Amino acid sequence: MLFLLFRDNSSSGLSPSMWSHLQYQLFRSGIQEMLRLSNTTAFRSVGASLSDPYQEYYPSCNSLPYPSEEYWICRLKHYMNTLFHPTSTCRIGKNNDDTAVVDPQLRVKGISNLRVVDASVMRHVTSGNTNAPTIMIAEKAADLIRGIDSVIDIRKKTLNL
Ligand SMILES: Cc1cc2nc3c(=O)[nH]c(=O)nc-3n(C[C@H](O)[C@H](O)[C@H](O)COP(=O)(O)OP(=O)(O)OC[C@H]3O[C@@H](n4cnc5c(N)ncnc54)[C@H](O)[C@@H]3O)c2cc1C
Repeated sequence: MLFLLFRDNSSSGLSPSMWSHLQYQLFRSGIQEMLRLSNTTAFRSVGASLSDPYQEYYPSCNSLPYPSEEYWICRLKHYMNTLFHPTSTCRIGKNNDDTAVVDPQLRVKGISNLRVVDASVMRHVTSGNTNAPTIMIAEKAADLIRGIDSVIDIRKKTLNL
């Protein structure tokens, strides 16, 4: 499978509603490029083909000729998805940080007995995938709540690496 990363010139990114004629053209040109690439000697030499392994999972568009313009409009309208990684809406920070929602112990500032423990506390979206850092945040929160340091032995072992 080939993923394409789109960036428009407006820097605001794609609208969450995602559908407009302009954006359709953007996605359509991405598909065109993907089909072109998959048909090059280099991609063909590693087994790429123009066949669509997911076609059978998209029955709504099966009555349309493939690959046609109507087919791709249907496919984009019905099955478009995002790989957005939303984070940082309740960011962690010092008590005097006005942009922070939770303190360094993940407690919501100004509200007692409430913590936030998920990807929303990240200061900024991580440059890699977000799932492992989210699990790490949860592990740290579990330690904070229990008042223990469950990774102290690991930290000692790795201190002088
Ligand atoms: C399409 C996609 C692909 C991804 N692929 C990867 C990947 O390959 N590798 C990777 O590292 N990361 C990946 N991620 C990111 C990863 O899934 C997230 O970073 C991670 O799940 C964030 O965890 P979270 O606890 O913040 O949010 P979530 O996992 O979304 O958990 C939020 C939970 O809160 C619940 N909830 C929402 N509202 C309420 C409410 N009002 N009351 C009660 N419960 C509520 C939801 O049901 C959900 O269970 C992907 C994300 C997406 C969208």
